[in-house]
Amino acid sequence: MAGKDNILYDNHGRVMNYLRLAVTDRCNLRCFYCMPEEGIKYVPKNDLLSYEEMERLIRLLATMGIRKVRITGGEPFVRKGMIDFLERITVIEGIEQVHITTNGTMTANLIPRLQKMGIKSINLSLDSLNPDRFFEITRRNVFYKVRETLDALIEAGMPTKINAVVMEGKNEQDILPMVELTKELPISVRFIEEMPFNGSGKDGSGIKWNYVEILSHIRSRYPDLEKIGDRPFSTSQNFRIPGWEGSVGVIPAFSRTFCGTCNRIRITPKGMLKTCLYDDGVFNVRDLLRNGASDEQLRAAFLDALSNRAKNGFEAERNRQFGMPVKESMSTIGG
Ligand code: SAM
Ligand code: SF4
Repeated sequence: MAGKDNILYDNHGRVMNYLRLAVTDRCNLRCFYCMPEEGIKYVPKNDLLSYEEMERLIRLLATMGIRKVRITGGEPFVRKGMIDFLERITVIEGIEQVHITTNGTMTANLIPRLQKMGIKSINLSLDSLNPDRFFEITRRNVFYKVRETLDALIEAGMPTKINAVVMEGKNEQDILPMVELTKELPISVRFIEEMPFNGSGKDGSGIKWNYVEILSHIRSRYPDLEKIGDRPFSTSQNFRIPGWEGSVGVIPAFSRTFCGTCNRIRITPKGMLKTCLYDDGVFNVRDLLRNGASDEQLRAAFLDALSNRAKNGFEAERNRQFGMPVKESMSTIGG
């Protein structure tokens, strides 16, 4: 099955049509579940994939069946030249959708250009509606900027999802107010289980707020919460409260219930291909590019990587050779 007609299938028969590209590991926030307070050791600039290299990869992957690209990071908009890059990749033949995940601190006034170039949607990371709790979580006092971005996205009619990581003792008070945002706003609020990628090397003893707990908490206040259809390959289970404008989702990112339909590959800022969020990287695409690989050689390397893909995130985690996930910061993967 793997690699039929150069199309990216894995050894379990799953098609790969979605690329998550982390364009930088740098960030202007320090969300404690993602990065330690002192930050991480950033990749030297020359070791980051260049814009030209990323564009070549997207063009190549489009010929192998990739149709959707999500730009993530680090914070994508801290990298200079991002808008020009986005303008180039949104017109690549075969790429049907480009989406962005952002912390929203530098995004508000870019929205008209993002809309004009056809960015399909924005995922805005916002873990609290309370400025003090926002500060406690992100270690930066910029709640109002993110709120301004949310308001501007809605005003512009840009399809928007809020991503909120739910953490014991940090923001459980925000779950219901965030659900209540969907009463008037046509957005999707998705609650994500905390994953062990915090760059600190410290692992907790599992999580209290798994998707079952989050849903039961919402149901205790809103018993009429009803299930709605999930899109193909969706990682979120989606719900709504009858009559409300928006929807609510839960993403079992730690429980990993969605691996059976996983259609995504990841490329990190320094060019590591990950065929699972939980693996420690399969091969370095940047090194191949810089060693003069032809498109044919690159295609062969991708097909080979997919022919040996872990069945699920648990297997990928067991197969890791370079230490526990907690040593990695999510900003070096992209989420
Ligand atoms: N800086 C951008 C942002 O925050 O949206 C993009 C990169 S960030 C790494 C992508 C997503 O990963 C965010 O929604 C963030 O909340 C999520 N994330 C980061 N660390 C996480 C963790 N340990 N567990 C669950 N989600 C995490
Ligand atoms: Fe930065 Fe996003 Fe990580 Fe927060 S989650 S530290 S905004 S990369």
